[in-house]
Amino acid sequence: MKYTRSNDRTATGPAASFTGTVYVDGLRAPDGQSAVGCGHVRFTPGARTAWHHHPKGQTLYVTDGIGLVATRAGGVQEIRPGDVVYIEPGEEHWHGATADRFMAHVAIQEADDNGQVVTWLDHVTDDEYSAAQGARS
Ligand code: MN
Repeated sequence: MKYTRSNDRTATGPAASFTGTVYVDGLRAPDGQSAVGCGHVRFTPGARTAWHHHPKGQTLYVTDGIGLVATRAGGVQEIRPGDVVYIEPGEEHWHGATADRFMAHVAIQEADDNGQVVTWLDHVTDDEYSAAQGARS
């Protein structure tokens, strides 16, 4: 058994992969024993990931606030605490806070044979973000 106290420094999401201020607490990184990676991600209002996809899919569990998850195919969902979102392998998407609320989720994803859990694409533009705010269901 390994016990980690809650005293590690919270990381900030890198500007190459996020818009706005995002805080990430890692829960586990994939290693030789298990390919599962997991983190708790906090988005400040207006913050969001870039477009991206996951080789083995991803499960999100919303823990706080109000957020959005959108797919390249055009679907937009408003997400709230207790909601669970499963994103299929290779499905292009982004997730983040709404413009005026924080949002936090636990993110669970499995690494592929190369140890990768995500492929990052282009940033979500302000126009795309604004459109998603209006289109959420
Ligand atoms: Mn994702």
